[in-house]
Amino acid sequence: MTPSTHRIFTETDLVLASHNAGKLREITALFEGRPFTVTSAGQHGVAEPEETEDSFSGNALLKARATMAATGKAALADDSGLVVPVLNGAPGIYSARWAGPDRDFIMAMQKVNSSLATTGSDDRSAYFICVLALVWPDGHEEVFEGRVNGTLVWPPRGDRGFGYDPMFVASGYDQTFGEMATQEKLDIGHRADAFAKLVAACFS
Ligand code: IMP
Repeated sequence: MTPSTHRIFTETDLVLASHNAGKLREITALFEGRPFTVTSAGQHGVAEPEETEDSFSGNALLKARATMAATGKAALADDSGLVVPVLNGAPGIYSARWAGPDRDFIMAMQKVNSSLATTGSDDRSAYFICVLALVWPDGHEEVFEGRVNGTLVWPPRGDRGFGYDPMFVASGYDQTFGEMATQEKLDIGHRADAFAKLVAACFS
């Protein structure tokens, strides 16, 4: 067996690069009781950088590096989205941007559905992806990817969750992520998958 090349986290501080209150709550809870202080980029007055990379890992690293550079402390960032293989990966890294400045996800879901209709294929498979990037003050970097596979349905169903949840049914389930109990979605989701990999590699 090859020895793990992952680095165990022994820093006294961790800064979360996200500016999303929901994500901050979730991640802070995950690290509760750990021997380091968790703060957010916002608490350090660090602005959110523009996501200029062309991949999830590129954008997660860009956000973590910017927060680490501004604070001098280890930083953790995530980037996530919906990937539809038959649409060549769209909306992908543009998942949030497809909803426009008003964050209109009814419109974004309609766009996904009408794009599917133009492919001439009946392949409606898709996955949610979450990439986490952890950057240490000395520049060491670790990246972890989580996924949940599923199918896109129409019309959208359910008013729980957010984003593309009402049109996504995870493989092996009948309810959309918009109908599913919140905890059940969190347990089987892409973010939990990425976090499990991060914790196993660097925090255990
Ligand atoms: P981020 O905040 O840059 O990672 O943007 C992620 C975008 O991807 C969100 O605005 C949603 O559109 C979409 N997305 C990511 N995760 C989920 C999810 O669990 N459910 C629904 N949509 C998601």
